[in-house]
Amino acid sequence: MAATILDGKTLARKIQNETKESVAEFVDQQQVTPTLAAVLVGEDPASQVYVRNKERACKRVGIDSQLHRMPESSTTDELLAKVDSLNQDSAVHGILVQLPLPNGIDARRILDAVSPDKDVDAFHPGNVGLISQGRPRFLPCTPHGIVQMLARNQISTDGKRVVVLGRSDIVGKPMAMMLAGRDCGLGSSVANATVTVCHSRTQNLAELTAAADVLIAAIGQPKFVTAAMVKPGATVIDVGINRTDEGLVGDVDFHAVLPVAGYLTPVPGGVGPLTVTMLLENTLLAARIQTGCQID
Ligand code: NDP
Repeated sequence: MAATILDGKTLARKIQNETKESVAEFVDQQQVTPTLAAVLVGEDPASQVYVRNKERACKRVGIDSQLHRMPESSTTDELLAKVDSLNQDSAVHGILVQLPLPNGIDARRILDAVSPDKDVDAFHPGNVGLISQGRPRFLPCTPHGIVQMLARNQISTDGKRVVVLGRSDIVGKPMAMMLAGRDCGLGSSVANATVTVCHSRTQNLAELTAAADVLIAAIGQPKFVTAAMVKPGATVIDVGINRTDEGLVGDVDFHAVLPVAGYLTPVPGGVGPLTVTMLLENTLLAARIQTGCQID
């Protein structure tokens, strides 16, 4: 039987409707509109699309967005000054520095400079540390979206074998930390996994993936995961976004894996829409933190 397709677009819309209600309630109580400032450096076309999508999503749920464009020739110091001014600006609750930054800019220094309370991408070392200790302030958007997708489809990872392909700071590592913990904030059923993290130096990778109850692919290699690498009935989450001659494809060979997996996310329309949605949630959370609201 073919896998059930996990529709990220519909789920993202549902969660955004919930966020919209929460934003309206917050605005009503605090008389403050949550505001996200995006910093876009240079003219990278994909980054322009991502930022535009984020602005549109903000608008849909009642969050204000600001776009701070900086030229490709900007220096690290100029960017640090911009981040500092946004940190000081009490009307800005969340700061997003769109990646990748142009060559020559010290991205680590820039991301570290974002105030931890405005760090809606959860890239600051302080926020990463809190995740690793199981008491997150913000959850990083893509892993958070994945956990929402699992939880809302009643797919448990408790006691299960999870393989995460990729060890980036943005997806692989935080994903593994969240699922290996006792509870990442969405209940114990989407935690408590036995997690294996694979990367480009992993040996016998296909053997490891074929034993996974849940396989999360985030490596940026088009159609890398084949049917033989998937355990029958497994849940396969495809994070990859690869631009190829045949259009956007994921890290999973969708049509080959469809008859083998139990659940499968498409690309596009899977994890991507949830990533943006979690950014909205984090911006509202940032506004709550900065207005002194009680955080559960
Ligand atoms: P990175 O390039 O930062 O990391 C890629 C990881 O994959 C590295 O750990 C690398 O290993 C590993 N890797 C690469 N090739 C192989 C291979 N052949 N076998 C095993 N491991 C391999 O990527 P990101 O984590 O930022 O992104 C991954 C993918 O997810 C990209 O396609 C990106 O566009 C997409 N993405 C999608 C998002 C969404 O919302 N849907 C959000 C963020 C990313 P090593 O460490 O050894 O180099």
